[in-house]
This record gives sequence, structure tokens and C-alpha cells, in this order.
Amino acid sequence: MAKYIFVTGGVVSSLGKGIISSSIGKLLQARGYKITIQKFDPYINIDPGTLNPYEHGECYVTVDGMETDLDLGHYERFTGIQTTRANSMTTGRIYKSVIDKERRGDYLGKTIQVVPHITDEIKSNIRYLGETGQYDFVITEIGGTIGDIESAPFLEAIRQLKWELGKDAISIHLTYVPYLKAADELKTKPTQHSVKEMLSYGIQPDILILRTEKHLDDHMRMKVAGFCNVDLECVIQSEDLPSIYEVPVNMQRQGLDSAILRKMGIPVGETPKLGPWLNFLELRKTATEIVRIGLVGKYDLQDAYKSISESLSHAATYNHRKVKITFINSEFLTKENLQEQLQEQDGLVICPGFGQRGIEGKILATEYARTHDIPCFGICLGMQMMVIEFARNVLGYKDANSSEMDTQTPHNVIDMMEDQKTISNMGGTMRLGAYDCQLQAGSRLEEIYGSTLVRERHRHRYEFNNKYLSQYEEKGMKCVGKNPEADLVEIVEIPQLKWFIGTQFHPEYQSTVLHPHPLFMSFIKAAIK
Ligand code: GLN
Repeated sequence: MAKYIFVTGGVVSSLGKGIISSSIGKLLQARGYKITIQKFDPYINIDPGTLNPYEHGECYVTVDGMETDLDLGHYERFTGIQTTRANSMTTGRIYKSVIDKERRGDYLGKTIQVVPHITDEIKSNIRYLGETGQYDFVITEIGGTIGDIESAPFLEAIRQLKWELGKDAISIHLTYVPYLKAADELKTKPTQHSVKEMLSYGIQPDILILRTEKHLDDHMRMKVAGFCNVDLECVIQSEDLPSIYEVPVNMQRQGLDSAILRKMGIPVGETPKLGPWLNFLELRKTATEIVRIGLVGKYDLQDAYKSISESLSHAATYNHRKVKITFINSEFLTKENLQEQLQEQDGLVICPGFGQRGIEGKILATEYARTHDIPCFGICLGMQMMVIEFARNVLGYKDANSSEMDTQTPHNVIDMMEDQKTISNMGGTMRLGAYDCQLQAGSRLEEIYGSTLVRERHRHRYEFNNKYLSQYEEKGMKCVGKNPEADLVEIVEIPQLKWFIGTQFHPEYQSTVLHPHPLFMSFIKAAIK
């Protein structure tokens, strides 16, 4: 039977529950347990696919094509597990399912209420993965902050599950201990209040993790333990660290994993070594030389391109470099400032995106990379920009565009797929999830991947327009990866250049700490050269 660990957050948002959940997963895996991690988000959207990245950061896509919260990216990068739609749930999906059941008549004769119908639906979704028999531990992260109106049904579900499962379910609560400069003091009061709030929902946290910018001494920890009814060894601190990847090591040092096992009545045994993980951290520390990558995108927010920046950082580490990522806002790129903005960079990533804003800047950056032979990696919309730039400046179609940006262009080198044209709902209807990609034999791509058939994840509505393929190939932009079933262009390359590759898919969703993605590895190598 699977055991359940609930991770909640209090005091403020953005404490890094996702990183803590991932670290717990990592530490339990190191002890030989099979784990999975799921995220329950209390918003009404069915999924974050229709959200603006400014609202919620990047949208992460699972292999089975679910658009999810970016925390699922952390889960995969830390633990190497593969998440699916069952690992991501929102209030919207919970309600939809209950309402669909009501319409079907599943509850005939009953008044449908938050308790028990919504809470039962939450409970059965929490237990769903555990009941597959594939996992020893299911870690469930609840989005939002304790005290939010939206979280209440989730907390009630956790309370009930804790009651039903006894020792097989524990609650880990993450809070914040602010440092008041004027008083030179760390303050535990907000933590005490947050635990009180949890208690008002009937949940006694078993373990507290205190986020802090300064070290908490034992006296402080004792105070928190005493006021919050938690064992001293279960008051863990999570100080700011230079890298999120140091968090599991810090948690292990303080015995978070052994505290979890003890609470659940499981023999603790020896603390496992984190071998390859430590090796990765060591490489990060010893890398002194810098590789400079410009991220050309329109979302001026660090979380908007999370998976891309993490993938660059993994690849740089294994190439013994520190990566310095500079965000270059494509909206403000002009012919006049192009040179000055881009010349410092060793490589450019042309970022994914939707809509018109900022695309002309991306096209300029692509042209600069192509004509100055700077390693350039176009991802999804970035690949489409490479294709449009080539059409305008090499094939001579000045009005070339994607039909996403210009429905009237006679040269729609990027066009909507036939089966997309009849779709009217925006949510969850793109080409989503993992698809096969056949690499051209003998191409650099085959060499990079070390294989001719790969699977990568997609999230887009528009595609390369095959009508133009022969013209591209003739002039030097090659299709080096194709979807074998649908004959869709997945990868373009200009083989004459040092490194100029665009992928219609998102390779960044598959890079992990222990398995950096081959395309990012190769791109960083080229940028270093
Ligand atoms: N807007 C483009 C499309 O829908 C690209 C999407 C993306 O970059 N993820 O095809």
C-alpha cells in the first residue's frame, strides 16, 4: 500500500514547495523507494494551458499531453520520474468531474455539496496514483497558501485522509521565518499563526520546514517545536542556497527523510549516498568559466522560460561551465540596437511563444545569428521564426509569415494543421505531448541523439508548410527530423552553419539533472567553441 505525504505552504507564496516536494522525492528514491509527486492547484482553470505566463510562469507539458504547472518540471528534473495527467489536478477539473457525474445521474436524489462530494472527488484523485500499486510513496503538493478560501476543500480532504490512513499519511508544512533587519531578529510568529490556521482545519503538521534567509539556532527551533506541537527533529530549516539543486542535500543533512520514515513507522536504516547528484553539484561548484546565452523572448519573467533555463544550466554544468543567461526582450529589438544587444552572446535561444507581440524582434535575432554564424537554437515558435526569416531573406518572400500572425499572407510558410482548423475550443486542443521524430540518417541530429528515432513533447497549433520544403532544402535549410506518421517537419537545420537548429517540439521538458538533454549539450558545446 502506498503511503501519502502532503506538502502545504503557509505565510506567503513562492516559498518553493515544488522544490521541497521534489527533494523529498529524491531522498526517498535514494533509499530505494518508488515515488511519484502530484500537484493540486486550487484555481478554477481546467489546466494552466490558457494562462498567461505572467500569471503562473511556464506551462509544463507531460508526455501524455497534459498542460500543467511548472512544478511538475521540477519533479521530473529532480527525480527523473515521468509525470502524466494524473499528477496534475485543479479545482476546475475536480468540479467538472463532479458536475459531469451529477448530469449523468450518478448521484440521483442527492444534493451535491462541497463536503462530501467535492472533498470525496479530491480524495479519490489523491489516492488514484497510490492505488495503481506502482508506488511506495505518493507526495501531494497543494498549491496556494493556507488560509486562502480556495484551499479549504483540499485541506478538509487531507484532514479526512490523515484520519483514515493513520500513520500512512503525514503532513509537511512549509512556512517562512522573516528576518527583521532593524531588530536584527528572526521572527517565528507568522509560523505559529500558520500552524494555528492548519489546526483550525483539523490538521496537525507532522513536520515543519522553515524557509529562512538566516540560520536558525537550536533555541529558535525549540521554540517553534514547543509552540507548534512538533518534535524538535521535525523542525527543519531551509536556508537560501546558491542553487535549488543543493536543497535535497541540505534536507538530508538535517534528516528530513529519516524524520518522515520515523513518523510513518518505517525502519530508518542508513543514510544513503547521493553519488551522481553530488557529482553534479561538484561540477557546478568547480566550473569557473562562463558560457553566455541570450534568451530571446517576450516574457520578462524568470519563471516564463523555466525549463529552458534549467536545461541550459544542466548542459553547461556537464560541459564544465557556468551559464550566464541574459534575457533579451524581443519586443524592443530593432535593427539599430541588434548588434549591441546580441554581440556579447556565445549562443542564442529563440524562445517559444504565442501571438504577434515580439515576433519581429525574434526574426531580427534569427537573421543576426544566421548571418553572423552564432550558434542558435530555435524552440517551437523560435523554430517557426527561423523558417520565416529564411523565407523572407533567402527565398525572397518578403511577406512570408505564420498564419497565426497574418491570416492573409500569400506565403504562409508556417500554417495551421488541417485538423486544427475545425477546433473552436482553445483549452487543451493543441498538438500536445510526446510524438515520434524520425531523424535523418547521417545528419548531425542523429549524431547528437545517438539514435534515429526519438520522442519529444509538443505544444503548438501551427506547423511547417510542406508546400515550401523543396525550396528550403535547395537553399540550404534542411528538414532533418520528421514525424513518421504525419509527415510533419519536426527539426530544421542549416548544416553549413556552426550550429543552427530549430525544433518544432520542446526538448527542454525532458532535460533532468542526471540526464541533460543531448540537444542542449550539443548547443552549449557549440557556444563554448
Ligand atoms: N504559437 C506557435 C504555435 O501555436 C508556437 C507555440 C509554442 O512556441 N509553444 O504553433
